[in-house]
Amino acid sequence: MRPLQMVDTKTQYHKIKTEVDAAVISVLESSAFIGGKVVTTFADNLAKYHGSKHCIPCANGTDALQIAMMALGLEPGDEVITPSFTYIATVEVAALLRLKPVFVEVDPKTFCIDPAAIEKAITPKTKAIVPVHLYGHAANMDAIMKIAAAHNLFVIEDNAQGIGNDYTFSDGTTKKTGTIGNIGCTSFYPSKNLGAYGDGGAIFTNDDELASVLKMIASHGQSKRYYHDVVGCNSRLDAIQAAILDIKLQHLDEYITARVKAADFYDNAFVDNKKITTPFRAADNKHVFHQYTLLVEGVDRDGLHQFLADNGVPSMIYYPVPAHRQKMFDAFGGSNFNLPVTDWLTERVISLPIHTELDEEQQTFIVNKVLEFVNK
Ligand SMILES: *Cc1c(COP(=O)(O)O)cnc(C)c1O
Repeated sequence: MRPLQMVDTKTQYHKIKTEVDAAVISVLESSAFIGGKVVTTFADNLAKYHGSKHCIPCANGTDALQIAMMALGLEPGDEVITPSFTYIATVEVAALLRLKPVFVEVDPKTFCIDPAAIEKAITPKTKAIVPVHLYGHAANMDAIMKIAAAHNLFVIEDNAQGIGNDYTFSDGTTKKTGTIGNIGCTSFYPSKNLGAYGDGGAIFTNDDELASVLKMIASHGQSKRYYHDVVGCNSRLDAIQAAILDIKLQHLDEYITARVKAADFYDNAFVDNKKITTPFRAADNKHVFHQYTLLVEGVDRDGLHQFLADNGVPSMIYYPVPAHRQKMFDAFGGSNFNLPVTDWLTERVISLPIHTELDEEQQTFIVNKVLEFVNK
């Protein structure tokens, strides 16, 4: 059996090595390391894949979120409603810009922001909602877009874990996650579903005016070279990464299919176990399984994590501390938020290896070890 890993980017690389190596060498030979045709071609292809009018590449997913919040003209003190049950980047950038993160609950089934909790948290200072398509499952965008429209709020989708997901609205129309709100943000961190061999990110919008502001902010606020209209930042996707990503983009749907197949295998193996809840899949989207996350009850979760590690099975707790309980947010009154669902989930989630290269032998081994501990 090949050694088990949370993600196996090496085996995946070897399957596309010839193409990738040639693309990297071609960038080296061109000496166009920053910007240039390779980057714009990838951005165009990614926009096309998403059915999005604009795609602005940037340095990473965290920058994408920051640039999005800057482009919407959010001012210090403005409130941004976000889940606490997420990766820190989603909320860190709000704090960095001196906005006020307002943490709300997630739906205990989908792990994504709870629309009812959003409604309750809206105040006259609320300016934006930042739903996160956590683990690759889409947030309830139908409800979120209705709330946003009713209260005149911006929506910034954190699609770092959801890239490639299709969301179907109650009227039957389907859109890619990341193209539904005013702005969508994604990450090409190597372990993400569309992973670079380094850092990368992208921002999506269908709004022409917003697109030019986003582009400007990502490039030192310049409207034309050496003319700086607004305070921006420096956030670029390297040409080498763009060349690699353009190849991997052609495989993204097949990568998602492989992840879903692995998830199906786990689902079948755990379906009858009363102590294990397998990931919920709402009918309005296809889960793209960035993570395969179990909820365990009546099980020593941390004991399970350790037992798996002792038996060569990696697993992860995403995330061991919810955002509102991070020290970082003490100054923002993080501990004043009362989020029992978030706390409850935090104590019970455990993510198993999921990636494009898992085989049945590996999955059988993982399943048996999980059941051995859970059933003892
Ligand atoms: C990975 C991730 C980010 C940040 O992306 P980076 O490219 O690492 O900056 C933001 N939000 C979520 C939910 C993520 O998983």
